[in-house]
Amino acid sequence: MYDVIVIGSGPAGLTAAIYASRANLKTLVVAGVQWGGQLMITTDVENFPGFKKGILGPELMDNMWNQAERFGVEMNFDDATAVDFSSKPFKVTVGSKVYEGKSVIIATGASAKWLGLESETRLRGRGVSVCATCDAAFFKDQRVVVVGGGDTAMEEALALSKFASEVKVVHRRDKLRATKILQERAFKEPKIEFIWNSTVQEILGKDRVEGVRLRKVDTNEEFELACDGVFIAIGHKPNTEIFKGQIEMDQVGYIVTEDLTKTSVEGVFAAGDVQDYIYRQAVMAAGAGCKAAIDAEKYLEGV
Ligand code: NAP
Repeated sequence: MYDVIVIGSGPAGLTAAIYASRANLKTLVVAGVQWGGQLMITTDVENFPGFKKGILGPELMDNMWNQAERFGVEMNFDDATAVDFSSKPFKVTVGSKVYEGKSVIIATGASAKWLGLESETRLRGRGVSVCATCDAAFFKDQRVVVVGGGDTAMEEALALSKFASEVKVVHRRDKLRATKILQERAFKEPKIEFIWNSTVQEILGKDRVEGVRLRKVDTNEEFELACDGVFIAIGHKPNTEIFKGQIEMDQVGYIVTEDLTKTSVEGVFAAGDVQDYIYRQAVMAAGAGCKAAIDAEKYLEGV
C-alpha cells in the first residue's frame, strides 16, 4: 500500500515524487516506458531556472530522477494500463501488477500533435520544433515557418517574430481558428506572413531544416519555400485515455481541476500539462507537481 502513487514522470510527476517522499510518504512513480516526458525529446533547455548555461532536456530529467531516488521513491518503468478510482484504496494497474494507493497524482502530461511526416521525425531538434517558448531564441535572424491556425500557432508566430527575420504561417484553410485578439496581433506584426489553404508535404534538408514543400489544397499545386526552422503548432493531446469514465475531463480530454490540483475524485490530484493547456512549461509543471504533493499530504492527514 502506497501513500501516494504518481502516474507520469515528467517535471510534474518527479517534482511531486520528490516532495511526497521527502514528506515521508511512501511513494511509487509509475514512470512509463518512455519516462521523462516531453523534455526527453528536447535539446537545450535555457529557461529552466538554476542552470546559467542551460541544460539538455534529458539531463535535466535524469537529475530530477536521481533526486527523487535519493528520497526512496520506488519506480516502475512500465505504462499504467488501467485505474480504478471508484473505491478506496485507489488501484493502478501496470501490466499484470495492481498497485494500491491512498492517494494518486496524475501527471501523465500531453503530447504535441505531429503532422506524421518521415522528414519531420528525422529533423526533430534539427530545426523542427513544437515549442517556440523553448526554441525561438535559437532562430535569431533566421526564416521560420509555423504550421497551424489556432491560438498556439499565433502565439508561436508572435514569439518567433521577436527573433526571426521572417515568420510564415502555413494554414490548411483560409480562416484562422485562433481567438480574435491573437489573430489581430498576428496580422499587425509586419514580420508575419500567411500562406493560406496550404499543407506541408515534406520538410526539406538532410541534417538540418532547409525548407518545406507545400501543397495548395484547392489546386494541388506544389511549391517549395526556403526556411531554417519549422514549428508545428497543430494542437496537443492530453494523455488521459486510461482515466476516461473515472474522472471529470473537459471536451478535449484535459483533466478538470479545482482549487489548483484537486480533481473530481477526492484523493486524486492532477498536475502539469495533463490539466494545464495554457502554459505548458516545465517550470510550471514542476510547480504544479509540488502543489499536488502538498495537497495530497494535507488530504492524507485528514483520512
Ligand atoms: P487548436 O485550437 O486545436 O488548433 C489547431 C490548429 O492546427 C487548427 O487551426 C487546425 O486547423 C490545425 N491543424 C490541426 N491538425 C492539422 C494537420 N494535421 N495539419 C495541418 N493543420 C492542422 O489547438 P491549439 O492552438 O493548440 O489550442 C488548443 C486549446 O488551447 C484551444 O482551446 C486554445 O484556445 C487554447 N490555447 C489558448 C491560449 C491562450 O489563451 N493564450 C494559447 C494557446 C492555446 P483547422 O483550423 O483547419 O482545424
